[in-house]
Amino acid sequence: MEQKLNQRKIFILEDEEDIAHLVTLNLHKEGFKTKEFTKAESFFKHLKEEIPGLLILDLMLPDLDGLEVCKKLRQDKKYSQIPIIMLTAKSEEFDKVLGLELGADDYMTKPFSPRELVARVKSILRRETRADKSYLIKVGEILSIDLQKYEVIAYNVKVELTSTEFKILTLLLERRGWVYSRNQILDYLDTYDKGVLDRTVDVHIKNLREKLGDAGKMIKNIRGVGYKFEETDN
Ligand code: CA
Repeated sequence: MEQKLNQRKIFILEDEEDIAHLVTLNLHKEGFKTKEFTKAESFFKHLKEEIPGLLILDLMLPDLDGLEVCKKLRQDKKYSQIPIIMLTAKSEEFDKVLGLELGADDYMTKPFSPRELVARVKSILRRETRADKSYLIKVGEILSIDLQKYEVIAYNVKVELTSTEFKILTLLLERRGWVYSRNQILDYLDTYDKGVLDRTVDVHIKNLREKLGDAGKMIKNIRGVGYKFEETDN
């Protein structure tokens, strides 16, 4: 279980780069992968590409209050499960109750011991791994998708998908049998890449089908309309 804790990245949203680097350094020592953000804006933008295993969140950011960040995350179904540790300076009037009410899992007051922070990260993640079973989408014994770990298992074999393929698959599975047009799929991907065309959806689907093997046959093309996921034998 211990190795599983650091499978997903820890995001650090902190505008004081010295502190961010120090946290990163200490997390790296423990085998965690990290990504630093100095502004809420870039953090939210990246969030669409990748959901972290945990967020270390500074309370005072240049563009948005840390409490607001926390609130926004908690209000969004996709992100509400991300564990949050808040960082606060001693001089700041931090309402701990409010912070925890808004959904922070823990908080630390600056200056803090990086080792203590890492210990708390581990403790929260350990709790998560134990508690969380509800993020599985299952299609009988054929396919199982873990939305938290970004893990897909088709016929008992782990499949490595790109984040785009993963998103398309979960979209199709959210409403099985429902046909999504290429445009709807593109909208959902919410891509910043202006070069993305209808045809790229076809390419992603093609790759997805190949990777999923027999389970991939359930992703069907409805000519002239789009794609759907449907459980059938053929
Ligand atoms: Ca700050």
